[in-house]
Amino acid sequence: MLHSKPREDNYLHKGLRKQLVQILREKGIKDERVLSAIEAIPRHFFLDPAFERIAYEDRAFPITANQTISQPYTVAYQTQLLEIKKFDKVLEIGTGSAYQACVLAEMGATVYSIERQRALYDFVGQFFFIRNYPNIKRFYGDGYLGLPTYAPFDKVIVTAAAPYVPPKLIEQLKPGGIAVIPVGDDNGQKMLRITKDAEGNIKEEELGDFMFVPMLQGKNK
Ligand code: SAH
Repeated sequence: MLHSKPREDNYLHKGLRKQLVQILREKGIKDERVLSAIEAIPRHFFLDPAFERIAYEDRAFPITANQTISQPYTVAYQTQLLEIKKFDKVLEIGTGSAYQACVLAEMGATVYSIERQRALYDFVGQFFFIRNYPNIKRFYGDGYLGLPTYAPFDKVIVTAAAPYVPPKLIEQLKPGGIAVIPVGDDNGQKMLRITKDAEGNIKEEELGDFMFVPMLQGKNK
């Protein structure tokens, strides 16, 4: 996975991507800019060459270090909830394969993405495709802390199951900002959309059921 050398993106891959986009549409994704980003990004680059077809099935997939690349529907759903605009400053917790970060960057956002696993953080640094997105800034650290030096953010996305809403992430959200966080435990999570109005008041909406790997405390060597 995450090879350092460029790989091929041919008509077959492009065709499979069109089919995937159609599936996401049928499942209710309506934001055309989200769908275009998914159609543009060769998801098979994020997986081993043996899994080229599987890369375009709507399912999560193991990457390295017991982590997963999120299901395309989940990526599309969270991204749609964020109402991404060009030049939005987005804080992402859980870089993983960086697929989600690439979708946000493809939509014109500037992405500040934190990963707690050193091995994954290093892998992504070697990944040729990430070089297409200078608007992705990556950090090795603990997502519970956010990035106080770069705050505030227009949007916050957590791509691991949080046991509770991490208070620092809401502090680092701009007035008018949106955070999308799956909250729950190993048995499942509810997607929460948290909005902060101009006065700093917080509103929480509970949306669908999801299953993410856990958001863990601290950094891992
Ligand atoms: N966004 C990723 C999904 C990765 S899975 C993608 O598109 O592929 C969740 C990731 O969150 C894992 O890589 C895991 O190591 C990371 N993670 C878990 N807890 C974290 C924390 N406290 N801070 C930063 N990253 C964390």
